[in-house]
Amino acid sequence: MSRQALGWRMDYDTLDHAIRIAPKAKAPLKGRDPLCEHLFPDKQEAEEALRADAKAIDAMQDVLWAERKRALLVVLQGIDTSGKDGTVRGVFNSCGPLGVAVTAFGKPSEEELSHDYLWRVHKAVPKRGMIGVFNRSHYEDVLVVKVRGLAPAAEVERRYEQINAFEKHLTENGVTVLKFMLHISKDEQRKRLQERLDDPKKHWKFNPGDLEDRALWDDYVAAYDTMLERCSTAHAPWRVTPADKKWRRNAIISAVVRRTLEEMNPAYPKAEFDPKAITIE
Ligand code: ADP
Repeated sequence: MSRQALGWRMDYDTLDHAIRIAPKAKAPLKGRDPLCEHLFPDKQEAEEALRADAKAIDAMQDVLWAERKRALLVVLQGIDTSGKDGTVRGVFNSCGPLGVAVTAFGKPSEEELSHDYLWRVHKAVPKRGMIGVFNRSHYEDVLVVKVRGLAPAAEVERRYEQINAFEKHLTENGVTVLKFMLHISKDEQRKRLQERLDDPKKHWKFNPGDLEDRALWDDYVAAYDTMLERCSTAHAPWRVTPADKKWRRNAIISAVVRRTLEEMNPAYPKAEFDPKAITIE
């Protein structure tokens, strides 16, 4: 992909290097900038890049579906208000509703709790030809579950390896896994929560429970740090995406999704008939 095609001043490798966590690397969030102004310094350019990428993603999704051999899974994780919904809207807006399946993972139901924690997740993995987006994911089972002590610590401890094995299984079976951790500052979260209180149209988004989680900020950061260190693998690396600016977050994620689809390089299947030999009366 050329720089011109992206419409921005930085090459893809520089961008990816800035956000991708190497396997087993310690990657404390504290040391990572939630703004990263050097990545897409210009808002207008970022918005143009996003528009171009979203179009390209839509076009390639069509081929992915026609080919029906592989799937792409995009995992979005991040603390409340980090912009998981906004990312879905911003990046996959141009895709037809038939090609993209979004699954939001909330508190598990009774039924879900009566199975192993990956049961509901595996069921939601996109089938061949689809792009699947997870708004929260199996990682809640080593995040909220760990922070709030919803399962025994020893059980949570085993999950990192189980998750790595699960994702390896998926990648070996035709599902490319992309994982984005949306990284915002505590200050930015305060602003976004305050907006939800100030704007009557956003009251529905405000959940007093979010304040409980905010009070546990440091515990969440520690749980995220462990997750990033133990579950960023060669087959499914984590990308810590600066998310204090929504437009930069969207431009970065769309660039990675686009590049990933380009590397998957789906192809339209060959017709099993000779179209020239067919006459339509
Ligand atoms: P969101 O906050 O993503 O807009 P909700 O208000 O439905 O959506 O919140 C989902 C809630 O479900 C979050 O508080 C999240 O921590 C919780 N949750 C998700 N997965 C699990 C899980 N496996 N166990 C316990 N709680 C979970």
